[in-house]
Amino acid sequence: MKTVYVDNNATTQAAPEVVDAMLPFFTERYGNASSMHSFGGGLIVDIRRARARVADLIGARPDEILFTSGGTESDATAIHAALQSNPGKRHIVTTRVEHPAIKNLFEQYGQNGYRVTVVPVDGQGRLDQETLLKSLDDDTAIVSIMWANNETGVINPMDDLAREIRSRGILFHTDAVQAVGKLPIDVGRTKVDLLSMSAHKFHGPKGIGALYIRKGTKFKPLVVGGHQEAGRRAGTENVPGIVGMGKACELAGQHLEDVGTRVRRLRDKLEQSLLRAVPRSMANGGQSDRLPNTSSIAFEYVEGEAILLLMNEHGICASSGSACTSGSLEPSHVLRAMGVPFTAAHGSIRYSLSHYTTEEEVDFIIAKMPPIIERLRQMSPFWKQAMEQAKAQA
Ligand code: PLP
Repeated sequence: MKTVYVDNNATTQAAPEVVDAMLPFFTERYGNASSMHSFGGGLIVDIRRARARVADLIGARPDEILFTSGGTESDATAIHAALQSNPGKRHIVTTRVEHPAIKNLFEQYGQNGYRVTVVPVDGQGRLDQETLLKSLDDDTAIVSIMWANNETGVINPMDDLAREIRSRGILFHTDAVQAVGKLPIDVGRTKVDLLSMSAHKFHGPKGIGALYIRKGTKFKPLVVGGHQEAGRRAGTENVPGIVGMGKACELAGQHLEDVGTRVRRLRDKLEQSLLRAVPRSMANGGQSDRLPNTSSIAFEYVEGEAILLLMNEHGICASSGSACTSGSLEPSHVLRAMGVPFTAAHGSIRYSLSHYTTEEEVDFIIAKMPPIIERLRQMSPFWKQAMEQAKAQA
């Protein structure tokens, strides 16, 4: 059975060019980049080239790029650096729809005495900017707002937010893990101070990411030890990963147009076809500006996990809008923050496409989904109840 992979916001296939670029650094050029001998030390040249490629993709300077182990570490490094560099400030701000990498981190800072403002969103996942701006004061150390949401794809107005937040002298971090490689990003235009990225979300390897640190931003390392990364992050350089991320950034730049046009068209075709074919379905955040590859569709009165199991029987890989917490299936905090009703949030499926997604794959999903939902609804007492109610009201 062929795998139809539409779970690219979870992770992506490493591009063949990325794998080719990395292989020699496992087998032939496996030295330690910090060694005195040229077998290891010579790798600095490869790291430099990779750093320049990462910087290029987001319009940064190479010395503004810090390599990390991925998005989670980049987020933690950014917030740690901001708070350690501004020890007198005890207020931090984020949103209700962040990835757990930020959500749980902010909860932890809250337990450790920081005052945390968590800004709400509306029913379409759009940020309440008035509440955000009102919350800012002289005690605010940092604001962290994701560029685009991993579940719904909803994009935040980054230019405006950066302008407003920085004009108040407050540091602005963005978790751009889902935006990089899907949207054009230029930190020359969008004036964030700190930006997190992760290679495995755009056809690079897992376990490598980067933090953009605008020149002049005060910084304190999270990981201390050796002097790697100019003393900003200790640990032997992950040369294969760094080289792979550099290649993935180069390719992402070349594929941006494809993602913005062809992939967007496939996403729209998938979404519109399913909304037409399946009664009582809707696109979460569908009226907002969204990533071109993401569609979160709520199929009312069915369980997301059951849908995923039946999709899996056809080789279709996607994600649901629930998180298995303490043994019960809780709708995700993102859909709850948007006020999506329980009956819809439970049956939400996220489809996330990529540069490698084909029209045939999308057509396959369009053919398979409606009977899956129909079959599950026939077994659902809630669906029967809802239909009886609708009949009585008609
Ligand atoms: N931030 C966002 C928005 C994400 O989607 C993810 C991964 O799903 C992360 C952070 C974490 O990135 P990583 O897996 O590289 O640690």
